[in-house]
Amino acid sequence: MDLYFDNAATTKISERALSAYTETARTVWANPSSVHKPGLEAKRKLEEERTKCAALLGIKSEQLFFTSGATESIAAVFSSLLFTTPRKIIISKIEHEALASWLTILKQYGWKTTELKAKNGFVSPAELEKELTPDTKMVAVMAVNNVTGAIQPIKELVSIAREYEKTSKRKIFFFSDSVQALGKIPYNMTELGIDGASFSGHKINGPRGIGMLYLKNPSSFRPLAPAGGQEKGKRGGTENLPAISALRVAIEEWMDGQEEKNQRVQRMKESIIAAIKETGFEILSPEKSSPYIISFSSSLPSEVYTRILSDKGVYVSSGSACSNNAKGEGEKILLGMGIRPEKARNAVRISLSNSTTEEETEALIKIIKETGNGK
Ligand code: PLP
Repeated sequence: MDLYFDNAATTKISERALSAYTETARTVWANPSSVHKPGLEAKRKLEEERTKCAALLGIKSEQLFFTSGATESIAAVFSSLLFTTPRKIIISKIEHEALASWLTILKQYGWKTTELKAKNGFVSPAELEKELTPDTKMVAVMAVNNVTGAIQPIKELVSIAREYEKTSKRKIFFFSDSVQALGKIPYNMTELGIDGASFSGHKINGPRGIGMLYLKNPSSFRPLAPAGGQEKGKRGGTENLPAISALRVAIEEWMDGQEEKNQRVQRMKESIIAAIKETGFEILSPEKSSPYIISFSSSLPSEVYTRILSDKGVYVSSGSACSNNAKGEGEKILLGMGIRPEKARNAVRISLSNSTTEEETEALIKIIKETGNGK
């Protein structure tokens, strides 16, 4: 049996999402921007999907924009900063490269940048408070870290920023990359009070190449690529309607009985953690982390240990497998939370999906125990 435990990198598209994809591709294939009958039908379907997705996310449909993935959602927001007078941006040291890589560009354009440490995996509201200055334009902290699963104190961080706004009298845009949060932890953008967020379809059994951008106040946002004016001028390019339908179905599936599903995954996570500890390896994921992610440090370099597991049909990742230099990125994040370099080098990530079964989990546990220190 192949044991796929790399769901934070990508998940397998669900049967229902795949059916929704093919159904829309087959039946509503016209361009939503065309003004003839099939075009108008495609436009109607697009807006229907947007309304449904927005309702599932607890936001207004005017606040939701479809993109090609979280990377593009983040790029839309960060590139919009290039139109404004350079000020200061604060992000955390544990952001995904899709976001962290923007610091280099912004610096070139004269922006001041600060990266907040994440001691023990968490960004501290007190640290943020120290770094806020009257010229701070944006703060970006992810909701759930993709390497350790650490759930960040977004509500507290937002409230620090909002308090500061009262004295500085200047608005701070609070962005949260929420790719690993949607469906996997209790998550409500309105309650959190954030101004923008990014989401990705392929982390929740939807297709690749589809994502979402939440903007609390879209009117104040100027995109870099308005192109043909699609998505109310916020994201140009012909909409990927089949993928949007599939994404909507994937969200519905994740949200259906979400609490129970997450509790079941949490139980599986706990038994995997017990087996890892028994083997003598150290758990790196903090207590307050996503039920779907386990990071640990084995006694071998991560590429060696993951190779041993792969030869046994167990597929996990060394740190974050979201990019080609996967290991580098995972390591950077672990170092950013203060993990010693030798431990970070041996880091392995096991990530579950809500379709992971107890049988798969038991088989994984057996192999972890058998493999021990690299037999
Ligand atoms: N942000 C986080 C936290 C991720 O885990 C990923 C995964 O790849 C991304 C952003 C990028 O998402 P996408 O593949 O949709 O561009």
